[in-house]
Amino acid sequence: GTDGPLAKEIAKVIPYFPYKKLDRFYDIGGVLKHPKLFNAMCSVMAKRYRKLGVTKILGFEARGFLFTPVAIKLGVPFVMLRKAGKMPNTISSGPYTKEYEGVDEMCIQKGALVPGDKVILIDDLIATGGTLCAGIELVKACEAEVVECSCMIELKALKGRDRCLKAGAKDVWGFI
Ligand code: 5GP
Repeated sequence: GTDGPLAKEIAKVIPYFPYKKLDRFYDIGGVLKHPKLFNAMCSVMAKRYRKLGVTKILGFEARGFLFTPVAIKLGVPFVMLRKAGKMPNTISSGPYTKEYEGVDEMCIQKGALVPGDKVILIDDLIATGGTLCAGIELVKACEAEVVECSCMIELKALKGRDRCLKAGAKDVWGFI
């Protein structure tokens, strides 16, 4: 839940500072200073995704890559989603706009998913939902299913959740 003791502990370690064109930036790096807490978070996620029959965890460059422990706990592969030009042998999404960094393309390596895979998309934060929607597009192109989009922080006012649900994610879930 968003008001549980775990969420409060995480919220406490997130300071912010002005970043690029934004008046704030949620710095999730703080949670990495608390290994027991970070481990507990990954366990909560792994427990949730075991129940949902997840076959692969997909993380977004760069802060989504922090969540490899979730895949290790589950015993399923972790798949990297990276911006264009960073990996060989990829398929890429259409261009997408991010909250603060202009246009980009998201890529996945060919063969990383097989039809019928049930995947979770993980990032540190959802703002407009543009990044997650690019991931959803890639998963759909691979004929796999987005069981859930997962993030530490949801900026609810930007309504990224609705965009993800419309794009085909079954749910969006986060700690805060
Ligand atoms: P969106 O595509 O949903 O508009 O923006 C989300 C993406 O931008 C994520 O990959 C996330 O890492 C990054 N992002 C945007 N704003 C913030 C922020 O305040 N804090 C952090 N940690 N990431 C942000």
